Amino acid sequence: MYDEFLATYLQMGWVLAVPMLAPRSYTREDVVELQCHGSEVCLRRVLRACLEAGATLAQPGEFTLRAFLNGRLDLSQAENVEKLISAKSVAAADAALAGIQGGFSSLVTSVRAKCIELLTEIEARLDFDDEMPPLNLNLVMDKIHAMSQDVENAMETANYDKLLQSGLQIAIVGRPNVGKSSLLNAWSKSERAIVTEIAGTTRDVVEASVTVCGVPVTLLDTAGIRETDDIVEKIGVERSEAVALGADVIIMTVSAVDGWTSEDSELLNRIQSNKKSTESSTPMILVINKIDCAPSASNEWNKVGNSFNDHVFTCAVTGQGIQDLETAIMKIVGLHQIPAGGRRWAVNQRQCEQLMRTKEALVRLKSSIEEELPLDFWTIDLRDAALALGQISGEDISEEVLSNIFGKFCIGK
Ligand code: GDP
Repeated sequence: MYDEFLATYLQMGWVLAVPMLAPRSYTREDVVELQCHGSEVCLRRVLRACLEAGATLAQPGEFTLRAFLNGRLDLSQAENVEKLISAKSVAAADAALAGIQGGFSSLVTSVRAKCIELLTEIEARLDFDDEMPPLNLNLVMDKIHAMSQDVENAMETANYDKLLQSGLQIAIVGRPNVGKSSLLNAWSKSERAIVTEIAGTTRDVVEASVTVCGVPVTLLDTAGIRETDDIVEKIGVERSEAVALGADVIIMTVSAVDGWTSEDSELLNRIQSNKKSTESSTPMILVINKIDCAPSASNEWNKVGNSFNDHVFTCAVTGQGIQDLETAIMKIVGLHQIPAGGRRWAVNQRQCEQLMRTKEALVRLKSSIEEELPLDFWTIDLRDAALALGQISGEDISEEVLSNIFGKFCIGK
């Protein structure tokens, strides 16, 4: 390769060529990395010199694809590399790292190995029935049960993955002046929303971000929902109702000072009928605010609390009760099962679909055994389970699926 520009750069020591030799490089191939500094023009000239000398531009995810093809990582670990690169929160990065470290991969490998072991035992009996001892059916059922349990445990993490990737939208609704904006401010430790004693101050939806158990949460403070002739406030109320419908969790705020009012009932009916007409099952939490002004009121709320998934007492001025509110949210969305610190792998949608296929095959296998169907039937189900698990680890994978997965990576990587 000769390029005057690059030659000068190398001569001056402005380009570092870092050789990483097989098998200890990421891709397990010989790799030379050129590290340059300088303007975009200089970088482009170095790149052009390399291309003219026969190099080709990397495809999206090409390095990780090569690492996978050369056995550095299995497919589920490779998918976590992409998650790590695009992680938007510490918990998302931790979960991706746990996936790369191989916790999920070893579970898949172990369940797949058990499927193949059982398949071998059964096939041996198909071929040499006379020479083999009969299968211990209790032992076989125990093995299937243990495999199903592992698969189900892994599937349960899919919800956590979804939350880490897309976060949660929480709408704070309630009639005017109950403390919705104060709650948003205290929770997000900001002054995002304007707080006044004048009812109807919040006219539009105000957003703030918080993190709950590592999950990014968008809080949406809405205009107080009430009947109004004020045209601007009316638009605000309509938007509030739309936001509440689209949220993952609705927090309905009331005032402990006023108690449960007929306006609160009206608002709850309105939300419930909106939910009914859209067949939405959005969970709702009742927040009884201003508890500092009515501390002895706690017992009165148990009855009305029944219309909600949970109820929590807060003082939005001091932030009291916000921790309880976070705990209630975690419980409702299933986050309380995640160990503290969020250091746990979570399966993505593709992996979850294959786990579901595995689970279904194991269910079919159990009924084939219970119904005393011929051994051939058992092998079909076991083979299907092993195939689905192979789709996760990458042992049985088509070109098309691979290009789908790696096409989502950024160039190179
Ligand atoms: P919103 O209209 O529902 O958004 O209510 P705001 O957040 O604007 O609050 C209305 C008034 O109630 C303001 O004067 C707040 O300072 C006050 N307020 C809000 N939360 C509390 C609370 O927990 N305790 C007390 N004492 N006052 C509160």
